[in-house]
Amino acid sequence: MKTGALPKQLDLRGLAARGVHIEGTVSPEDLPRLADSGIAIVESGSAAFDFRRDEEARHVVAVSVEVKVVMQCQRCLSDMEVAVDSASLMACVWSDEEAAALPATYEPLLVDGAADLSDIAEEEILLAIPVSPIHEAECKSAEQQAALETDAEEPAAVEDSGERDSPFSVLQRLKS
Ligand SMILES: [Zn+2]
Repeated sequence: MKTGALPKQLDLRGLAARGVHIEGTVSPEDLPRLADSGIAIVESGSAAFDFRRDEEARHVVAVSVEVKVVMQCQRCLSDMEVAVDSASLMACVWSDEEAAALPATYEPLLVDGAADLSDIAEEEILLAIPVSPIHEAECKSAEQQAALETDAEEPAAVEDSGERDSPFSVLQRLKS
C-alpha cells in the first residue's frame, strides 16, 4: 500500500460521485477517540477507501484498515497487542433517521460537512476491536494459578509476582 497521511476535509459526496480510490497511512496522532479510550496503535497502520454511488444513489465507501493496537487484557490487566484487519461498507448519512433506514449491509457514516479520512479509519477500528480482549495464551492469571498451586512450598512467590495487592496475593497471605 502507498504511504502518506490520510487527506483531511474532503467532500465525501464528490468522492463518491467520482468513484475515487484513496490509500494512506494511519498515524497514532490521527486517532484521538482511540487515545481517549486508552488504546494506542503500534507504529502506523494502513487504510484504503473506495468511494462510489450504490444502485440507490447512496454515497458509500468501502473501508479497510490494517493496524495493530495495544489494549488491556481483561483477564490479567496487562497490555496485549490486537491485530486489526477489518473492512466495512459504510454509507454516508446526514441524520439519525437516515442511519436507521440503512440496509444492514451498511454501517452508517454520519457526515457533517467535510470529513477527514482518518476519522473514517478510526470509526472502522472502533467497530473492529474486541469489547473484552483476552490473551489467548500466557496470561498472568495462568501464572497466578500456578503460583497458587505451588503456594505451599513457595511462599516467596508473592514477592516475585510484583502484584502484592491482587486478590490472589491477599489470598496467599491469608493462607500462610
Ligand atoms: Zn492476559
